[in-house]
Amino acid sequence: MTNRDNIKLDSQTPLQYIKGVGPKRAEALSDLGITSIKDLLYYFPRGYLDRSQVVRIADLRKHVENGRPVTVFAEVFRQEARRTKRGNKLIFLLTVKDESGFLTCVWFEGFQWLKNTFENGEFLALSAVPALDKLKRPQFIHPQYDRLKSAEEDEPDWGKLFNTGSIIPKYSSSAELERVGLDSRGFRRIIRNAVDRHISSIDEILSSDIIQRQDLCDEKSALKSIHFPPDFNELENARRRLKFDELFFLQLMLALRKRNAQQQLRGMTYDVESKLAHQLVNALNFELTKAQRKVLREIIDDLKSPYPMNRLLQGDVGSGKTIVALCTALLAVENGFQTAFMAPTEILAEQHYQTITELLKSLPVNVRLLVGGQRKKLRDDILEDIRRGSAQIVVGTHALVEEKVDFLNLGLVIVDEQHRFGVMQRAGLRSKGTNPDTLIMTATPIPRTLAMTLYGDLEVSVIDEMPANRKPVRTALRTEKEKARVYQFVKEEISRGRQAYIVFPLIEESEKIDLKAAAREYEHLQKNIFPEFKLGLLHGRMKSEMKEAVMHEFKKGEMNILISTTVIEVGVDVPNASIMIIENAERFGLAQLHQLRGRVGRGPDQSYCILIADYGWFDMQKKGGDILEILGEKENARVRLETMVQTTDGFKISEIDLKLRGPGEFFGTRQSGLPGLRIANPVDDAELLTKARKEAFDLVKNDPHIRREENIYIKYFFEKKFRNILELGKIG
Ligand code: ADP
Ligand code: MG
Repeated sequence: MTNRDNIKLDSQTPLQYIKGVGPKRAEALSDLGITSIKDLLYYFPRGYLDRSQVVRIADLRKHVENGRPVTVFAEVFRQEARRTKRGNKLIFLLTVKDESGFLTCVWFEGFQWLKNTFENGEFLALSAVPALDKLKRPQFIHPQYDRLKSAEEDEPDWGKLFNTGSIIPKYSSSAELERVGLDSRGFRRIIRNAVDRHISSIDEILSSDIIQRQDLCDEKSALKSIHFPPDFNELENARRRLKFDELFFLQLMLALRKRNAQQQLRGMTYDVESKLAHQLVNALNFELTKAQRKVLREIIDDLKSPYPMNRLLQGDVGSGKTIVALCTALLAVENGFQTAFMAPTEILAEQHYQTITELLKSLPVNVRLLVGGQRKKLRDDILEDIRRGSAQIVVGTHALVEEKVDFLNLGLVIVDEQHRFGVMQRAGLRSKGTNPDTLIMTATPIPRTLAMTLYGDLEVSVIDEMPANRKPVRTALRTEKEKARVYQFVKEEISRGRQAYIVFPLIEESEKIDLKAAAREYEHLQKNIFPEFKLGLLHGRMKSEMKEAVMHEFKKGEMNILISTTVIEVGVDVPNASIMIIENAERFGLAQLHQLRGRVGRGPDQSYCILIADYGWFDMQKKGGDILEILGEKENARVRLETMVQTTDGFKISEIDLKLRGPGEFFGTRQSGLPGLRIANPVDDAELLTKARKEAFDLVKNDPHIRREENIYIKYFFEKKFRNILELGKIG
């Protein structure tokens, strides 16, 4: 019989059972989320020191140059005190010997303690990077040591190797933890105790089938070796196993989510012969691209199916995702469902609202806007409209996820610019309807393995074609000194009827100062540089109505230049604007620069993006060749700017961005992006990810409720691991 009682209760064993952990340390550890022995065992080292190379004293000289630590095994021969030349500080000298010679170890600190520490004839292991003394003899300064045998004992106890003679794990600590003695070494000690005494109570999680197929080492050895690796080979095996675990459980979550979605019925099928969508498309002054039509077909097929849609719509900035989303919303409307359209910023929600109302003005559809900061009366009215179901399309920010928002009949959830929302918020909005269809849109083309990690439960559609009349934006890099010329150029373009953005960066620490700077700059530009034109200022701290008014004016072409902070970063769509000037461009991330540039190049005119950066320190003599090759130089800002100049390909840009920032940063917080990954990295471990994914999806296919005997531990650990986000992957 198999049930949960068979599962060892290791995880519930409190920390105090470990030698060296009292109430104080237990409390400090619990702040780190470590409350059981098991948690502690899964607190992995942040790196390693290799002190595993053992040498004879006579050979030390050879190791002086390379700067790496070595270990000698030797007996204490002599102990001496010496005074420093000036002052009266005492130096401790310890001479040890092995069969090949003598070695002196020097301590400049801790004499009082050291003088009572060693006994002549005892056997030590000592590790240090060898240095040369005045007479050019190798010596050890402040070596690490372990005492392996007293003068009386016969055999050394090799089990006492702890600071030397092996690969030493390093652990992250904090001031708080150090206060209770848990610096890296303190951690090493208690984890050593935990490994020695408790590793046997660790369960094997994976079934032996998976372990064999994937050629993994067992969980116990992996945990042991990740902390105390006997050699680098074993360490690599351990890492591979533990990474596999992480990736496997993440994929299992996605597999279950996908299965759950496929099990829920929509309740009713759509009549997808939409009149409204046809009317809308016919009224447009452009033709849908082939790619847009293809994606719409894919969506319609989803809607015909009895299961809810879960689709990711990927398309570079400007590829025309909004219209596709709107057609989908019209289908929902005609079938009697409400649509929630969530955008990451107020400005963008506002704009979608404007665009949609404009596009639908001759159609009988009621569209409402819900953002934070609306007057109470208006807000109550909107909420009532949503509740009664008369609000058919509700555009909004994350305000849509709030508790008070209560849809009568939410059938479709559209999330725009998904990379800005966490996995959690996505689930939050979905929970407001019963199995609503979901369409998630992103302009960030994600490398395949990452897409698998983040959206592995979704079907993917790609708009891989830009509207025909587009010309690629020309991008240039200019210095502060060249600004006069840049302004001259702006004047010429404006005189020909175009509009321009000038964007300033915001650094969070000093937002107020930055805003002042932007406001001053605005006044300066209006008064001294562009007196003949109308300028406007837009920033995140302005009241919604003010923002709205400014955007409206700009959109209608009544304003020539919009000075802005990055609030316009995402989605803003004013086709007549053809110049984007980015000040202090070196301060922006690549994704941000690409998004900002995406604000222009939306109409038939040639557009320009001018990056202003003081790049005097850059070697602007192009190296030629692939920009990725320059990456090694770590000149991050320069790579970002050059990438922008060299390509408008969003996929290429996000690939470089990912390399520069790593996946954690790339997707905002770890939490929202990649739950449960501590040592695995979906980019570097792409191959392992693919394998873990296959195993997880196969498992759900063959054992949908994870009931089979061999999978019982998988189920147990999965439920524990994802307890807090369980609704994302209920086993059901
Ligand atoms: P994004 O994919 O970045 O959200 P939008 O949906 O905002 O792009 O579309 C960008 C601009 O292109 C809008 O002004 C939109 O009206 C226009 N557009 C969309 N589809 C087409 C098309 N097939 N032909 C020409 N212009 C289009
Ligand atoms: Mg958009």
